Amino acid sequence: MFRIGLGHDTHRLGPGNGLVLGGIVIPHERQSLGHSDADVLLHAITDALLGAAALGDIGEMFPDTDSANRGRDSGDMLQRAMQRLTAAGWRLVNLDCVIFAQRPTILPHRPRIRERIAGLLGVDIDAVWLKAKTGEGIGPIGQEEAIAAECVALIEQWPQTTNI
Ligand SMILES: [Zn+2]
Repeated sequence: MFRIGLGHDTHRLGPGNGLVLGGIVIPHERQSLGHSDADVLLHAITDALLGAAALGDIGEMFPDTDSANRGRDSGDMLQRAMQRLTAAGWRLVNLDCVIFAQRPTILPHRPRIRERIAGLLGVDIDAVWLKAKTGEGIGPIGQEEAIAAECVALIEQWPQTTNI
């Protein structure tokens, strides 16, 4: 059996030193603001995975009212969500993601981001794809007030059972 999940996340941007995105730090003079390390892409992926398996969502697993989640590594959050799926008999088939950011240009960083996400999830790098869109200079994305990400995830029951 296959299931799909959709994740979306948005974070405010503010003055900073390095943008945490997809588990890496991209040199930039603005950063994501949030309770954890504010990695908008890993948050969208986490929600896509949890949603595909009907196993909750990132806000329920890691509430921002819990001080333990302050400054938390989103890679750790993603891996804990994936462990929840694995325990329930699911494995990841593939992810397809979109980042919405006016700046910085994401594509030069795509190989490292894909490698990092694949490593966190224990899948082949070909199972992780990533695209990037600007905000065309308008709205919160285009005015560099916010960054957003979307992700779809396909999962399958594992080990597969054969129905004859
Ligand atoms: Zn987030």
